[in-house]
Amino acid sequence: MNWKHFLLPALLSVITLPSAAYAELRIFACEPEWAALAREVGGDKVNAFSATHVGQDPHYIRARPSLVSQIRRADLLFCSGAGLEAGWLPILMQRGAKSGIQPGKLGHLIAVNHVAVLEIPAVLDRRLGDIHAEGNPHVHMDPRNILILARELTNRLTMLDEENAAHYRKRLENFETSWSRALKGWEVRAKKLSGMAVIVHHKSWVYLVSWLGLQQMATLEPKPGMPPTPSHLTALLKVSRGQSVKAIMRTPYDPANGSEWLATKTDIPAIVLPYTVARDAGPGALAQMFERTLSLLETARAKR
Ligand SMILES: [Zn+2]
Repeated sequence: MNWKHFLLPALLSVITLPSAAYAELRIFACEPEWAALAREVGGDKVNAFSATHVGQDPHYIRARPSLVSQIRRADLLFCSGAGLEAGWLPILMQRGAKSGIQPGKLGHLIAVNHVAVLEIPAVLDRRLGDIHAEGNPHVHMDPRNILILARELTNRLTMLDEENAAHYRKRLENFETSWSRALKGWEVRAKKLSGMAVIVHHKSWVYLVSWLGLQQMATLEPKPGMPPTPSHLTALLKVSRGQSVKAIMRTPYDPANGSEWLATKTDIPAIVLPYTVARDAGPGALAQMFERTLSLLETARAKR
């Protein structure tokens, strides 16, 4: 007997057995925050993959072949929406995504469809910038939205994977309890931050600004998605001098030069807030993201 005839079937059974025993639901998240939330609610019953990482601007990534192979295997899609992924997600979707994750299906979860969207333009005018034409997509920066989406995700998971419905509901219950407790603490701290004047690089923070009651005085981008220009930055010098701005905020992926220039000229601290979590972040990471964000704002406020 040829040894290959014996070995190959044996190998195949080794490869296929574990996947049958652990039939995880595969989740394709566009951003790390949604992958992390999926792990909070799904635990070991889901396999969540994030298309982007903390150093990448989710408005602009390439529809790489590795992402195509991930989206093909996905049972649930979880993205921000409102055009955030307009430059790359439709391309991926066309390359073999299952019918169950297509628009209108249970496996197609878009965050902005379940929360109150801010900055929806009264008229669609591309001269106001190419991005954010459908409103502001950065909804995860309001922790109350995280809770709404945890519940919606649980609804979807219990229907897609009925066998494990009790598991998802139990995990949601635990998450709701700990998140609500944390939220109470954050809202006490928010009272002290209320009214704090800030300048932001991109409009990544409107939900945070609105939740905390901060005052957003200006953006370094003249229009969403347009890099800061020298004339715009010079105009911002006046804004900064007239008001007691406490911080210039940016994400880890925004270019530093604009905020560093303004910080040097004005002595206002330029701070990098976490904005999201690690690509493979486990339970607790989202809460830590808000903890760290509040701490950084508190430190900046105390400085000036
Ligand atoms: Zn944006």
